[in-house]
Amino acid sequence: MTARTAIVTGAARGIGAATARRLAAEGHAVAVLDLAEEQAQATADAINAKGGKAIAVGADVADEDAAAAAVARVAAELGPPQILVNNAGILRDNLLFKMSAGDWDAVLGVHLRGAFLMSRAVQSSMVEAGWGRIVNLSSTSALGNRGQANYAAAKAGMQGFTKTLAIELGRFGITANAVAPGFIETEMTKATAERVGVPFEDFLAHAAKETPVGRVGQPEDIAAAVAYFCSEDAGFVSGQVLYVAGGPKA
Ligand code: NAP
Repeated sequence: MTARTAIVTGAARGIGAATARRLAAEGHAVAVLDLAEEQAQATADAINAKGGKAIAVGADVADEDAAAAAVARVAAELGPPQILVNNAGILRDNLLFKMSAGDWDAVLGVHLRGAFLMSRAVQSSMVEAGWGRIVNLSSTSALGNRGQANYAAAKAGMQGFTKTLAIELGRFGITANAVAPGFIETEMTKATAERVGVPFEDFLAHAAKETPVGRVGQPEDIAAAVAYFCSEDAGFVSGQVLYVAGGPKA
């Protein structure tokens, strides 16, 4: 496999960290990007300690200048990026009648504006190389989920965004695909359990019961799907949404 430079956003922990570790294990140099560089550093350190190559980059993906500066720094330190995983995400759940415009904007901002800004910033180095892989994190919530009007809209938006990138960028050897996870055990789902006042263990047990394979997902389950879309083998697979949810969701 050809070693590439990869950027994984929201990679300080959870699915992003597992994806950064997985891409590094496959030989890629990885920029571990997150809001706080100190938090991303731990993931990068762990990769470097295992013989991989990683740097930590602090940036808010929803900030136009910060996104562009982060990509420029990665290009200078690791080489032009040819893999981008738009994973950074936040939740601001509430029922519609209680949802503030700020919570709507924040969620759409990180997921959609962030993915747009990062993709726009990396596309030129992918076009130049005639090779690129963009993977966007969607969710089963794209199909609709109570209390998540903002998040569901963002995650459905990620799918339309992905398909459009696939159409526009395919001629340059660039594919764009989306992974739509079901319930994954991370800080994000832990925060949801806290918000609804259910002990995390009970929350996990309930989710496992509702899942056909009888367990909740782990970050590594999603990293494996992302890694497939990033592989040389997946060059003819573009504009797809893969639900990784332990059962059929779409
Ligand atoms: P997580 O544990 O909350 O990690 C998300 C990471 O993104 C955090 O490190 C967070 O940093 C970072 N981040 C947030 N806003 C950012 C910004 N503006 N710029 C850069 N980084 C930012 O979440 P996760 O569960 O691993 O989820 C990862 C992705 O998968 C998200 O897109 C999520 O929507 C999606 N997903 C998750 C699940 C699930 O069940 N966990 C299911 C479906 C889809 P801070 O800690 O500093 O905020």
